[in-house]
Amino acid sequence: MTEAVAASVKPAAADWTAAVTTIRELAPTGRVLLICHVNPDGDALGSMLGFALGLRRLGVARLQATFPGEFEIPEPFAALPGLDLLVPEEQAWRDPDLVLVFDVAAESRLGGLADRLPAARATVVLDHHVSNSGFGAVNLVDGAAAATSVVVEELLGRLDVPLDVEIAECLYVALATDTGSFRFDMTTPQVHEMAARLIATGLRPGEISRRIFDSRPFGAMKLFADVLGRARLDPAAAGGHGLVWTYATLADLERHGQRPYVLDALIDPVRCVAEVDVSVVVKQQADGVWAVSMRSKGAVDVSAVAVALGGGGHRLAAGFTGHGTPDEIVSAVYGKLDNSLI
Ligand code: AMP
Ligand code: MN
Ligand code: MN
Repeated sequence: MTEAVAASVKPAAADWTAAVTTIRELAPTGRVLLICHVNPDGDALGSMLGFALGLRRLGVARLQATFPGEFEIPEPFAALPGLDLLVPEEQAWRDPDLVLVFDVAAESRLGGLADRLPAARATVVLDHHVSNSGFGAVNLVDGAAAATSVVVEELLGRLDVPLDVEIAECLYVALATDTGSFRFDMTTPQVHEMAARLIATGLRPGEISRRIFDSRPFGAMKLFADVLGRARLDPAAAGGHGLVWTYATLADLERHGQRPYVLDALIDPVRCVAEVDVSVVVKQQADGVWAVSMRSKGAVDVSAVAVALGGGGHRLAAGFTGHGTPDEIVSAVYGKLDNSLI
Protein backbone atom coordinates (compact mmCIF):
# COMPACT_ATOMS: atom_id res chain seq x y z
CA MET A 1 0.00 0.00 0.00
CA THR A 2 2.96 2.30 0.62
CA GLU A 3 3.86 2.27 -3.06
CA ALA A 4 0.30 2.90 -4.15
CA VAL A 5 0.13 6.14 -2.21
CA ALA A 6 3.61 7.31 -3.19
CA ALA A 7 2.97 6.61 -6.87
CA SER A 8 -0.36 8.41 -7.04
CA VAL A 9 0.42 11.81 -5.57
CA LYS A 10 -3.25 12.73 -5.72
CA PRO A 11 -6.22 10.72 -4.43
CA ALA A 12 -8.00 8.81 -7.19
CA ALA A 13 -11.69 9.46 -7.92
CA ALA A 14 -12.44 6.11 -6.24
CA ASP A 15 -10.72 7.28 -3.04
CA TRP A 16 -12.89 10.40 -2.83
CA THR A 17 -16.00 8.32 -3.47
CA ALA A 18 -14.98 5.78 -0.84
CA ALA A 19 -14.35 8.54 1.72
CA VAL A 20 -17.71 10.22 1.06
CA THR A 21 -19.61 6.91 1.12
CA THR A 22 -17.90 5.76 4.33
CA ILE A 23 -18.57 9.05 6.12
CA ARG A 24 -22.19 9.24 4.94
CA GLU A 25 -22.78 5.67 6.09
CA LEU A 26 -21.08 5.71 9.50
CA ALA A 27 -21.02 9.31 10.75
CA PRO A 28 -24.73 10.12 11.17
CA THR A 29 -25.35 7.45 13.81
CA GLY A 30 -21.87 6.28 14.82
CA ARG A 31 -19.14 7.52 17.12
CA VAL A 32 -16.62 9.48 15.07
CA LEU A 33 -13.10 9.89 16.45
CA LEU A 34 -10.81 12.45 14.80
CA ILE A 35 -7.07 12.15 15.49
CA CYS A 36 -4.11 14.34 14.52
CA HIS A 37 -0.38 13.94 15.13
CA VAL A 38 1.55 14.18 18.40
CA ASN A 39 2.76 17.71 19.27
CA PRO A 40 0.06 19.10 17.00
CA ASP A 41 0.88 22.10 14.82
CA GLY A 42 -1.51 24.52 13.13
CA ASP A 43 -2.20 22.19 10.20
CA ALA A 44 -2.87 19.17 12.41
CA LEU A 45 -5.23 21.00 14.80
CA GLY A 46 -6.79 23.30 12.21
CA SER A 47 -7.51 20.52 9.70
CA MET A 48 -8.94 18.22 12.36
CA LEU A 49 -11.12 20.84 14.07
CA GLY A 50 -12.27 22.37 10.77
CA PHE A 51 -13.45 18.97 9.57
CA ALA A 52 -15.03 18.19 12.95
CA LEU A 53 -17.02 21.44 12.77
CA GLY A 54 -18.08 20.49 9.25
CA LEU A 55 -19.38 17.14 10.50
CA ARG A 56 -21.23 18.97 13.28
CA ARG A 57 -22.91 21.16 10.63
CA LEU A 58 -24.01 17.92 8.93
CA GLY A 59 -25.75 16.94 12.14
CA VAL A 60 -23.19 14.40 13.35
CA ALA A 61 -23.75 14.27 17.09
CA ARG A 62 -21.15 11.89 18.49
CA LEU A 63 -17.78 13.52 17.80
CA GLN A 64 -14.46 13.47 19.59
CA ALA A 65 -11.20 15.07 18.47
CA THR A 66 -7.90 14.12 20.07
CA PHE A 67 -4.13 13.74 19.72
CA PRO A 68 -1.56 11.55 21.48
CA GLY A 69 0.66 12.68 24.33
CA GLU A 70 0.27 15.40 26.88
CA PHE A 71 -3.09 17.14 26.59
CA GLU A 72 -1.86 20.68 26.12
CA ILE A 73 -3.03 23.17 23.50
CA PRO A 74 -0.25 25.55 22.48
CA GLU A 75 -1.24 29.12 23.35
CA PRO A 76 -1.24 30.25 19.66
CA PHE A 77 -4.08 27.76 19.01
CA ALA A 78 -5.98 28.28 22.26
CA ALA A 79 -8.70 30.32 20.53
CA LEU A 80 -9.38 27.94 17.62
CA PRO A 81 -13.06 27.24 16.98
CA GLY A 82 -14.11 23.70 17.85
CA LEU A 83 -11.78 23.23 20.82
CA ASP A 84 -14.78 22.05 22.85
CA LEU A 85 -14.66 18.82 20.80
CA LEU A 86 -11.16 17.98 22.07
CA VAL A 87 -10.64 15.23 24.64
CA PRO A 88 -7.40 13.83 26.15
CA GLU A 89 -6.26 10.57 24.54
CA GLU A 90 -7.29 8.51 27.61
CA GLN A 91 -10.89 9.67 27.13
CA ALA A 92 -11.03 8.88 23.41
CA TRP A 93 -13.47 6.05 22.61
CA ARG A 94 -11.66 2.70 22.49
CA ASP A 95 -13.96 1.27 19.80
CA PRO A 96 -15.18 4.16 17.63
CA ASP A 97 -17.21 3.41 14.51
CA LEU A 98 -15.22 5.74 12.29
CA VAL A 99 -11.69 7.10 12.72
CA LEU A 100 -10.52 10.10 10.72
CA VAL A 101 -6.79 10.89 10.78
CA PHE A 102 -5.25 14.28 9.94
CA ASP A 103 -1.72 15.33 8.90
CA VAL A 104 -0.20 12.02 9.97
CA ALA A 105 2.37 10.48 7.60
CA ALA A 106 3.04 7.33 9.61
CA GLU A 107 1.33 5.42 12.40
CA SER A 108 4.27 6.15 14.73
CA ARG A 109 2.93 9.74 14.93
CA LEU A 110 -0.30 8.40 16.50
CA GLY A 111 1.42 7.26 19.70
CA GLY A 112 -0.97 5.47 22.06
CA LEU A 113 -3.93 6.17 19.78
CA ALA A 114 -2.73 3.81 17.03
CA ASP A 115 -4.86 1.03 18.55
CA ARG A 116 -8.07 2.93 17.73
CA LEU A 117 -7.59 2.25 14.00
CA PRO A 118 -7.94 -1.54 14.00
CA ALA A 119 -10.80 -1.19 16.52
CA ALA A 120 -12.87 1.01 14.19
CA ARG A 121 -15.21 -0.15 11.43
CA ALA A 122 -13.49 2.21 8.97
CA THR A 123 -10.54 4.61 8.83
CA VAL A 124 -10.07 7.58 6.52
CA VAL A 125 -6.64 9.26 6.39
CA LEU A 126 -6.37 12.86 5.16
CA ASP A 127 -2.78 13.98 4.57
CA HIS A 128 -0.27 15.69 2.29
CA HIS A 129 3.02 13.94 3.09
CA VAL A 130 4.49 12.24 0.02
CA SER A 131 5.98 9.68 2.40
CA ASN A 132 2.52 8.70 3.74
CA SER A 133 2.51 4.96 4.23
CA GLY A 134 -1.19 4.55 3.36
CA PHE A 135 -2.20 3.05 6.71
CA GLY A 136 -5.92 3.87 6.43
CA ALA A 137 -8.66 1.79 4.84
CA VAL A 138 -9.28 4.89 2.72
CA ASN A 139 -6.35 7.24 2.05
CA LEU A 140 -6.81 10.79 0.80
CA VAL A 141 -3.16 11.76 0.40
CA ASP A 142 -2.35 14.68 -1.86
CA GLY A 143 1.42 15.07 -1.99
CA ALA A 144 1.02 18.29 -3.97
CA ALA A 145 -1.21 19.97 -1.37
CA ALA A 146 0.37 22.75 0.68
CA ALA A 147 -1.44 21.59 3.82
CA THR A 148 -3.78 18.83 4.95
CA SER A 149 -6.47 21.53 5.12
CA VAL A 150 -6.48 21.61 1.29
CA VAL A 151 -7.68 17.99 1.35
CA VAL A 152 -10.15 18.85 4.12
CA GLU A 153 -11.70 21.69 2.13
CA GLU A 154 -12.16 19.41 -0.89
CA LEU A 155 -13.78 16.66 1.19
CA LEU A 156 -16.12 19.11 2.94
CA GLY A 157 -17.17 20.35 -0.50
CA ARG A 158 -17.87 16.80 -1.66
CA LEU A 159 -19.99 16.30 1.48
CA ASP A 160 -21.91 19.50 0.61
CA VAL A 161 -20.80 21.30 3.76
CA PRO A 162 -20.56 25.05 3.07
CA LEU A 163 -17.68 26.99 4.63
CA ASP A 164 -18.66 29.15 7.58
CA VAL A 165 -16.37 31.55 9.41
CA GLU A 166 -15.46 29.03 12.13
CA ILE A 167 -14.55 26.22 9.74
CA ALA A 168 -12.70 28.80 7.62
CA GLU A 169 -10.65 30.04 10.57
CA CYS A 170 -9.49 26.49 11.33
CA LEU A 171 -8.56 25.82 7.71
CA TYR A 172 -6.87 29.23 7.40
CA VAL A 173 -4.67 28.61 10.46
CA ALA A 174 -3.70 25.27 8.91
CA LEU A 175 -2.91 26.75 5.51
CA ALA A 176 -1.02 29.74 6.92
CA THR A 177 1.03 27.49 9.22
CA ASP A 178 2.21 25.05 6.56
CA THR A 179 2.97 27.72 3.94
CA GLY A 180 4.90 29.84 6.46
CA SER A 181 2.34 32.63 6.05
CA PHE A 182 2.10 32.17 2.28
CA ARG A 183 5.87 32.49 1.75
CA PHE A 184 7.08 28.98 0.91
CA ASP A 185 7.37 27.50 -2.59
CA MET A 186 4.11 25.57 -2.40
CA THR A 187 2.22 28.86 -2.17
CA THR A 188 0.54 28.30 -5.52
CA PRO A 189 -2.30 30.25 -7.17
CA GLN A 190 -4.61 27.52 -5.79
CA VAL A 191 -3.37 28.25 -2.26
CA HIS A 192 -4.20 31.95 -2.63
CA GLU A 193 -7.57 31.06 -4.18
CA MET A 194 -8.35 28.88 -1.19
CA ALA A 195 -7.20 31.65 1.17
CA ALA A 196 -9.53 34.03 -0.68
CA ARG A 197 -12.50 31.68 -0.17
CA LEU A 198 -11.65 31.41 3.53
CA ILE A 199 -11.18 35.16 4.06
CA ALA A 200 -14.45 35.82 2.22
CA THR A 201 -16.34 34.15 5.10
CA GLY A 202 -15.40 37.16 7.23
CA LEU A 203 -12.39 35.97 9.19
CA ARG A 204 -9.68 38.43 10.30
CA PRO A 205 -6.30 37.43 8.81
CA GLY A 206 -4.34 40.11 10.68
CA GLU A 207 -5.70 39.07 14.04
CA ILE A 208 -5.16 35.37 13.31
CA SER A 209 -1.56 35.92 12.15
CA ARG A 210 -0.76 37.98 15.21
CA ARG A 211 -2.06 35.20 17.42
CA ILE A 212 -0.32 32.29 15.71
CA PHE A 213 2.97 33.85 14.53
CA ASP A 214 3.62 37.21 16.13
CA SER A 215 2.94 36.77 19.80
CA ARG A 216 5.10 35.21 22.49
CA PRO A 217 5.83 35.74 26.16
CA PHE A 218 8.83 37.83 27.22
CA GLY A 219 10.34 34.70 28.78
CA ALA A 220 10.18 32.93 25.43
CA MET A 221 12.11 35.77 23.82
CA LYS A 222 14.81 35.48 26.50
CA LEU A 223 14.87 31.71 26.01
CA PHE A 224 15.31 32.19 22.25
CA ALA A 225 18.18 34.59 22.95
CA ASP A 226 20.01 31.91 24.99
CA VAL A 227 19.40 29.16 22.45
CA LEU A 228 20.25 31.28 19.41
CA GLY A 229 23.36 32.52 21.20
CA ARG A 230 24.81 29.00 21.20
CA ALA A 231 24.10 28.24 17.53
CA ARG A 232 26.97 26.81 15.49
CA LEU A 233 27.69 27.54 11.84
CA ASP A 234 29.42 25.15 9.42
CA PRO A 235 29.54 26.64 5.92
CA ALA A 236 31.40 23.56 4.60
CA ALA A 237 28.69 21.03 5.55
CA ALA A 238 26.38 19.40 3.00
CA GLY A 239 28.87 19.60 0.14
CA GLY A 240 29.53 23.29 0.83
CA HIS A 241 25.87 24.28 1.08
CA GLY A 242 26.29 24.85 4.79
CA LEU A 243 24.53 23.93 8.02
CA VAL A 244 23.59 25.85 11.16
CA TRP A 245 22.33 24.21 14.31
CA THR A 246 21.47 24.75 17.92
CA TYR A 247 19.78 22.94 20.78
CA ALA A 248 17.45 23.67 23.68
CA THR A 249 17.24 21.68 26.91
CA LEU A 250 14.45 21.16 29.42
CA ALA A 251 16.61 23.21 31.82
CA ASP A 252 16.48 26.13 29.34
CA LEU A 253 12.68 25.91 29.35
CA GLU A 254 12.53 25.74 33.12
CA ARG A 255 14.94 28.66 33.61
CA HIS A 256 12.65 30.88 31.56
CA GLY A 257 9.36 29.36 32.77
CA GLN A 258 8.34 28.26 29.28
CA ARG A 259 6.40 25.31 27.87
CA PRO A 260 8.01 23.02 25.23
CA TYR A 261 5.73 24.14 22.39
CA VAL A 262 7.25 27.65 22.37
CA LEU A 263 10.33 26.05 20.79
CA ASP A 264 8.32 25.10 17.68
CA ALA A 265 8.84 28.67 16.43
CA LEU A 266 12.60 28.62 17.04
CA ILE A 267 13.46 27.02 13.70
CA ASP A 268 12.33 30.23 11.96
CA PRO A 269 15.13 32.59 13.01
CA VAL A 270 17.64 29.73 12.61
CA ARG A 271 16.60 28.89 9.04
CA CYS A 272 17.08 32.56 8.07
CA VAL A 273 20.89 32.26 8.32
CA ALA A 274 22.09 33.34 4.88
CA GLU A 275 25.32 31.33 4.81
CA VAL A 276 23.61 27.92 4.90
CA ASP A 277 21.11 25.67 3.20
CA VAL A 278 20.32 23.38 6.12
CA SER A 279 19.16 24.37 9.59
CA VAL A 280 18.67 22.06 12.54
CA VAL A 281 17.13 22.62 15.98
CA VAL A 282 17.44 19.86 18.57
CA LYS A 283 14.86 20.13 21.37
CA GLN A 284 15.04 18.04 24.52
CA GLN A 285 11.87 16.11 25.34
CA ALA A 286 13.16 13.86 28.12
CA ASP A 287 16.45 12.44 29.38
CA GLY A 288 18.36 11.56 26.20
CA VAL A 289 15.31 12.05 23.95
CA TRP A 290 15.18 14.99 21.55
CA ALA A 291 12.78 16.26 18.88
CA VAL A 292 14.77 17.34 15.84
CA SER A 293 13.50 19.94 13.37
CA MET A 294 15.26 20.38 10.02
CA ARG A 295 14.76 22.85 7.19
CA SER A 296 16.42 23.21 3.76
CA LYS A 297 16.39 25.96 1.16
CA GLY A 298 16.51 23.47 -1.70
CA ALA A 299 19.96 21.88 -1.89
CA VAL A 300 19.23 19.04 0.54
CA ASP A 301 16.22 16.75 0.84
CA VAL A 302 15.84 16.86 4.62
CA SER A 303 12.98 14.34 4.52
CA ALA A 304 15.51 11.79 3.23
CA VAL A 305 17.75 12.60 6.20
CA ALA A 306 14.76 12.35 8.56
CA VAL A 307 13.50 9.07 7.10
CA ALA A 308 17.01 7.58 7.34
CA LEU A 309 16.98 8.48 11.04
CA GLY A 310 13.48 7.12 11.74
CA GLY A 311 11.39 10.26 11.11
CA GLY A 312 9.68 11.88 8.18
CA GLY A 313 8.30 15.07 6.69
CA HIS A 314 8.66 17.05 3.48
CA ARG A 315 11.65 17.72 1.21
CA LEU A 316 12.31 21.13 2.74
CA ALA A 317 10.88 20.60 6.26
CA ALA A 318 11.30 17.38 8.20
CA GLY A 319 12.02 15.95 11.62
CA PHE A 320 12.81 12.89 13.68
CA THR A 321 13.25 11.76 17.28
CA GLY A 322 16.93 11.71 18.24
CA HIS A 323 18.66 9.86 21.09
CA GLY A 324 21.85 10.69 22.98
CA THR A 325 23.40 14.15 23.17
CA PRO A 326 22.81 17.05 20.74
CA ASP A 327 26.35 16.55 19.36
CA GLU A 328 25.69 12.87 18.71
CA ILE A 329 22.38 13.65 17.03
CA VAL A 330 23.90 16.30 14.76
CA SER A 331 26.72 13.87 13.91
CA ALA A 332 24.04 11.41 12.79
CA VAL A 333 22.52 14.15 10.60
CA TYR A 334 25.96 14.84 9.07
CA GLY A 335 26.22 11.14 8.27
CA LYS A 336 23.09 11.31 6.09
CA LEU A 337 23.67 14.66 4.35
CA ASP A 338 25.82 13.56 1.44
CA ASN A 339 23.24 10.99 0.34
CA SER A 340 20.46 13.57 0.56
CA LEU A 341 21.78 16.29 -1.76
CA ILE A 342 19.18 17.23 -4.38
P1 AMP B 1 8.63 20.34 12.60
O1 AMP B 1 10.09 20.60 12.45
O2 AMP B 1 8.26 19.72 13.91
O3 AMP B 1 7.82 21.55 12.24
O4 AMP B 1 8.24 19.23 11.52
C1 AMP B 1 8.47 19.41 10.15
C2 AMP B 1 7.89 18.27 9.39
O5 AMP B 1 8.52 17.05 9.76
C3 AMP B 1 6.41 18.05 9.59
O6 AMP B 1 5.84 17.81 8.32
C4 AMP B 1 6.30 16.83 10.45
O7 AMP B 1 5.19 16.07 10.09
C5 AMP B 1 7.58 16.07 10.17
N1 AMP B 1 8.11 15.46 11.38
C6 AMP B 1 8.63 16.10 12.45
N2 AMP B 1 9.01 15.23 13.40
C7 AMP B 1 8.73 13.99 12.93
C8 AMP B 1 8.88 12.64 13.44
N3 AMP B 1 9.41 12.39 14.66
N4 AMP B 1 8.46 11.63 12.66
C9 AMP B 1 7.93 11.85 11.45
N5 AMP B 1 7.77 13.07 10.91
C10 AMP B 1 8.16 14.14 11.63
MN1 MN C 1 1.90 18.84 10.89
MN1 MN D 1 0.82 19.55 7.34
